[in-house]
Amino acid sequence: MTLAQLIVPFVRRHALAYGGSALMLAGIASLTVWLPRQVGHLVDLLVAGGAADGALWREVALLAAAGVMIYGFRVAWRLILYATTYRMGVQLRLALFARLGEQGPSFYGGRRTGDLMALATNDVDAIELAGGEAVLAAFDGTLTFILVVTTMAAFVDWRLALVALLPFPFLAFAFWRISVQLHLHSRQALDTFGALNDHVQESLAGVRAVRALGLESANAQRFSGLAKSAADASFEAQRWEALYEPAVGTSLSVAATASIALGGWLVWHDEITIGQLTSFGLYLGQLVWPMYATGAVLSLWERGRAAWDRLSAVLDQPLAVQDEGGVATVTPGEIGFDGVTFAYPAGNRPAIDSLTLTIEPGTTVGIVGPTGSGKSTLLALLMRQWDPQGGRVRLNGVPLTNYRLDALRAASAWVPQEPALFSTTVAENIALARPSASRAEIIAAALAAEVDEDIRRLPDGYDTVVGERGVTLSGGQRQRIALARALLSEAPFLLLDDALSAVDSDTQHRILEHLRAGRVGRTTLIVSHRLSTVADADRIFVLRHGQVHEAGSHAELLARDARDSWYAKQWRVQQLEASLDAD
Ligand code: ADP
Ligand code: MG
Repeated sequence: MTLAQLIVPFVRRHALAYGGSALMLAGIASLTVWLPRQVGHLVDLLVAGGAADGALWREVALLAAAGVMIYGFRVAWRLILYATTYRMGVQLRLALFARLGEQGPSFYGGRRTGDLMALATNDVDAIELAGGEAVLAAFDGTLTFILVVTTMAAFVDWRLALVALLPFPFLAFAFWRISVQLHLHSRQALDTFGALNDHVQESLAGVRAVRALGLESANAQRFSGLAKSAADASFEAQRWEALYEPAVGTSLSVAATASIALGGWLVWHDEITIGQLTSFGLYLGQLVWPMYATGAVLSLWERGRAAWDRLSAVLDQPLAVQDEGGVATVTPGEIGFDGVTFAYPAGNRPAIDSLTLTIEPGTTVGIVGPTGSGKSTLLALLMRQWDPQGGRVRLNGVPLTNYRLDALRAASAWVPQEPALFSTTVAENIALARPSASRAEIIAAALAAEVDEDIRRLPDGYDTVVGERGVTLSGGQRQRIALARALLSEAPFLLLDDALSAVDSDTQHRILEHLRAGRVGRTTLIVSHRLSTVADADRIFVLRHGQVHEAGSHAELLARDARDSWYAKQWRVQQLEASLDAD
């Protein structure tokens, strides 16, 4: 979609507002065109010396009234227009936000947060200006131009009008050259601003790391480098924009010189009056505005187009997974991976490689294996954050693609190793997936996640604000709050991705007991690097290079020879470590 395809339908939808503003502009233009005629008329009246006192005052009063009306119209059209284009900005921001919500990891892997934020502010502003000011200035400029030129031709002299138009082809050429450059440099200015914004966002998010590593000055240097290139790019765009003015000025001087020469000649030969020549001079001055308007429209439009290029690239980027399934309810059942192969766009070898496994409904399953063996990817495929290139994932015998995404996602409560907490109270953080939950339910979830005691020790208990603007929690506390959140959602599938890594083993043990008691009949997948976490699972899968390397219960896996069992060997290593720690 081009910028015009965005703006034209918008203008149509808000035809009343645009029409009202345009009507007022037309009023202003007509009054403005009428003014020189009136002045010329007055001059002729004075030159003739024949004006009666009363008549003269009436003419002057008319002029003054026209001035006041023009003023009123000017204020009104802006008020109407800005109220409307503001809505365009709101719509674009909503569309962007909605799209960002639909996008998954494949999108965010290739985008920078700060740049996305710049899109919602800087770029949307530029588009708003193109949709408002530019549209009306184009209308106004064209209207004024037509009115002025026809009035010149009709009431003064058509030859003079023609001479006044002589420089226009030159002007059009100059405008075209400038616009091309302006588009290019506007784009660069927006891009570099995005990069600068991104740097600021990242520095603030990682301010502790920056300080801890003593990187303040390097960071500041990088900031000033980016700020300079953003300023340079913006300056370059402005430099090109500034060229509109001299182009207008030059054209106008040429027109003025030529038409005064011709006008003098015409007056000399009594073809027009001095009053008419005076009016003509004023009309010529009025052509300045349409010329400037063209320059302003072009510059707003090019800036808007550059911004729209950036924004539409994000809005149009296809989703990694299509939401085309029709099944709206997920009945908890068997999970099946049939020969699933999946490689990340950036990865050169599959993260999951012809993997086949079945998870019985209502069981607790452990997924272990070395780092990078594909454990997290397996969970991501189950939640359909990605679609595999080969094979199929099934839920209850139905391919995942047949489910509606929202239903599928709501069916899994996923707790990652580093969960996100929002800047709100602990209670609201826990009740995120079920805001209607009562305080008692929230507390029950916190008890099951063994975090109730920790929460009660916070300054305001469950009402303590945490996150960026509140109390800082330890990694283990954050993990358990996230677990409480997942438990409260009562989703049929609970996916823990090393979610208890920062919790000590006694506490972890109690949590697992609560899970066993509380999640009867529901499926729990536990990914962990600590084997004791999965020791009691109904079944354990050991992944290696994206494949199932071993499978069985804890006892079965341990019974295997440690030389070819990763699990058996790892178990011994971890037992030894634990006993060393205990000493
Ligand atoms: P695990 O959770 O078992 O440590 P992962 O599932 O995270 O392993 O990763 C499996 C493989 O995929 C690894 O080789 C990892 O480097 C790669 N990988 C993970 N995430 C991405 C990504 N977003 N882009 C490219 N490669 C990835
Ligand atoms: Mg992982």
